[in-house]
Amino acid sequence: MTAELMIGTELAAEMVANAATRAGRLRAETGVQPCLATVLVGDDPASATYVRMKQNRCRKAGIESRSVVLPAATTTAELVAELAKLSNDPSVHGILLQHPVPGQIDERAAFEAIDPGKDVDGVTMHAFAAMAFGEPGFRSCTPGGILRLLQAYDVPLSGAHAVVIGRSPILGKPAGMLLLASDATVTYTHSRTVGLPDIVRTADIVVAAVGKPNFVRGEWLKPGAVVVDAGYNEGNVGDVHFAEATAVARLVTPVPGGVGPMTIALLLEQTVDAAQAQSETAVQPVAGLA
Ligand code: NAP
Repeated sequence: MTAELMIGTELAAEMVANAATRAGRLRAETGVQPCLATVLVGDDPASATYVRMKQNRCRKAGIESRSVVLPAATTTAELVAELAKLSNDPSVHGILLQHPVPGQIDERAAFEAIDPGKDVDGVTMHAFAAMAFGEPGFRSCTPGGILRLLQAYDVPLSGAHAVVIGRSPILGKPAGMLLLASDATVTYTHSRTVGLPDIVRTADIVVAAVGKPNFVRGEWLKPGAVVVDAGYNEGNVGDVHFAEATAVARLVTPVPGGVGPMTIALLLEQTVDAAQAQSETAVQPVAGLA
């Protein structure tokens, strides 16, 4: 079997074009230009590249991008104060804290300083709870992007057995929660899981979110499985052994060009959603007093 590829690039381009149209309409109708603030702590080159990519995409989609760069020695209190300031700034509609942050910072405390209404990267406990309860709200961008990709390729989710490899709060856990909300039967696996290959062999859908190159082997996969590779390792290598997986699976995401573009597209879409929601709830000037 040679798997069909689940390409994220085209779907993501459509989502970005749609976000750009909506951003233009919002600006024309209300004067509000959607604005995403990115916060980068320190000078990790990979993080700086990710932030730059997100800023460029924003600009192309007519979304203002505001950049905050803080020194590597920033304390939790300083970062929390900066995020609180952005949360209270009415000209900022979405906030993205690039992670990981330096080790001295309490990352959870920093995430929770983001106003849930501006949490367009889906990292707060509020967003996590909405995903867990199956309620509307901002999705963690990578898991949300994965779900959109599976839906676009008409992958049946209801009753399917999905095995998620990885349980990080921004990727593995919410990916499983969103699959569960779509009526999949979900098994979470992680570094302490015993007999991982045998568990993966029972999966109709595999989501690999491990951070280890070529970790999932072809012989672990059930013939005809759907394989989502969320991993991104140095040298454009995913967490799934691509050549082996395409020989066994029915659908596989490539790296790059699979999950990655969907992540950024959802970030932009959710930034426009946030700007729209905030423009609707903004206090309107009282006629005659403005
Ligand atoms: P993470 O926080 O390091 O989490 C990795 C997870 O993998 C952990 O839950 C860990 O288990 C599990 N794991 C480690 N070794 C394992 C093993 N031998 N067997 C089974 N599970 C194992 O990483 P992350 O932030 O979730 O990212 C995962 C991957 O996705 C990385 O390659 C990252 O670059 C990529 N990523 C891509 C995007 C995108 O836009 N495409 C966005 C974010 C991340 P424990 O919990 O037990 O430690």
